[in-house]
Amino acid sequence: MSSPVQHSDVLIVGAGPVGLLNALGLARTGVSVTVLEAEPAIGDAPRAMVYHWSVLEGIERLGILDAAKQVGFTKQDYAYYVYATGEKIELSVGVLEGLVAHPYNLHMGQHKLAEIAHVELEKLDNVSVRFDSRVTGIDQDDDGVTVTVDTGGGSEQFRASYVVGADGAASTVRKTLGLGFEGITWPEVFVATNVRYDFEAHGYARSTLQIDPTYGAIIAKIDNTGLWRVTYAELPDIPQEQMGERIPQWYEKLLPGDEGYELDAYRPYRMHQRAASSMRAGRVVLAGDAAHATNPTGGLGLTSGLFDSFVLYDALAAVIKGLADDSVLDRYAEERRRTFLEIASPRASANKKLLYHTSDPVELEAQLSKLRALAADEDAQRTNFMFTKQLETPPLVQPVAVV
Ligand SMILES: Cc1cc2nc3c(=O)[nH]c(=O)nc-3n(C[C@H](O)[C@H](O)[C@H](O)COP(=O)(O)OP(=O)(O)OC[C@H]3O[C@@H](n4cnc5c(N)ncnc54)[C@H](O)[C@@H]3O)c2cc1C
Repeated sequence: MSSPVQHSDVLIVGAGPVGLLNALGLARTGVSVTVLEAEPAIGDAPRAMVYHWSVLEGIERLGILDAAKQVGFTKQDYAYYVYATGEKIELSVGVLEGLVAHPYNLHMGQHKLAEIAHVELEKLDNVSVRFDSRVTGIDQDDDGVTVTVDTGGGSEQFRASYVVGADGAASTVRKTLGLGFEGITWPEVFVATNVRYDFEAHGYARSTLQIDPTYGAIIAKIDNTGLWRVTYAELPDIPQEQMGERIPQWYEKLLPGDEGYELDAYRPYRMHQRAASSMRAGRVVLAGDAAHATNPTGGLGLTSGLFDSFVLYDALAAVIKGLADDSVLDRYAEERRRTFLEIASPRASANKKLLYHTSDPVELEAQLSKLRALAADEDAQRTNFMFTKQLETPPLVQPVAVV
């Protein structure tokens, strides 16, 4: 006998940070939510760890900023480091003091943010987060959406008025809807490593953007336990299984000094600049990497996904409560896709080019001159750090009251 269909207002596919923050925003308005996650637990592979100042207001509105600050840490220092010459060009988010509510960035692994949201969700009785629940099929009609889930032990069906596909760049939801994922995949593989090593003792800023056509890297402090992220670009023809063995060779070049290090975790990633052909198909909307994927240089991927969530949960809650027409979801889909394609993706590509691929000395000098001028001019730095605010979409509906 097949199990009965389980109902909620919204089904969210994917318990990554985007899915769980969306769930929290919706649930706080009284909407009933089920989150379906394929894996047995929240994934902790090394990925996002920098939250730009501009997303912190949205995290605060969800009621979890204080908890996030306790787990991670806030900081203002940034530096471009020219590997070949040792030149350091220092910037500070501190130039935003007095202008914005949170003039600092927050650092912590993205699984920590997801876990904080999960703890809050567990306190609410209108939410269920189901692990080991892989979505395999989606059917929609005029009244709602039926989602088929493989639970390992068999198949179950769930039904909801709306579905949010937050199931990452390889999104089953997007593919099942027949939506394209247009753009490019970069030839190189980025290797993200988490390592215990005291870069600060060597004068490194806690976000260091290292410029070099071979040894370009992002070197950033993850948390207060001494864990740092070192991300570099492997050659395209190295087999993935050799990438772990090659880490000591890379560290010989990338770690200053010769104290011992402790490798905590690593993961190679193919990188893309891609967006779904549409972020809405009927009663299903996409958010986060399921909707748009970027290379991570400059930390604009999850930033874009968080800004999706901050505007989507209110819009969806308003539609479900009859406070807004569902055409607001078209505006969500169009505006978020446009913001990614016109603002986030080009900037991430330019960041990647500067750090990893500027081999022409004349071009490099021109870029460095601009960075030196930026470091010397606080007004210019303010404009520079306001950039990530452009990735935000203003509210599409009146904020829906928290119950
Ligand atoms: C090395 C690296 C560093 C990065 N650093 C930053 C940074 O500092 N700042 C930043 O803004 N961004 C950064 N990013 C990007 C960031 O990691 C992503 O944008 C972010 O993970 C997107 O979150 P998400 O919730 O949309 O998707 P994901 O985190 O991919 O979560 C998707 C979830 O869906 C689940 N799922 C998949 N298929 C199914 C299915 N069929 N059924 C049910 N569940 C399913 C998955 O198991 C997963 O839990 C970085 C990325 C990388 C690779």
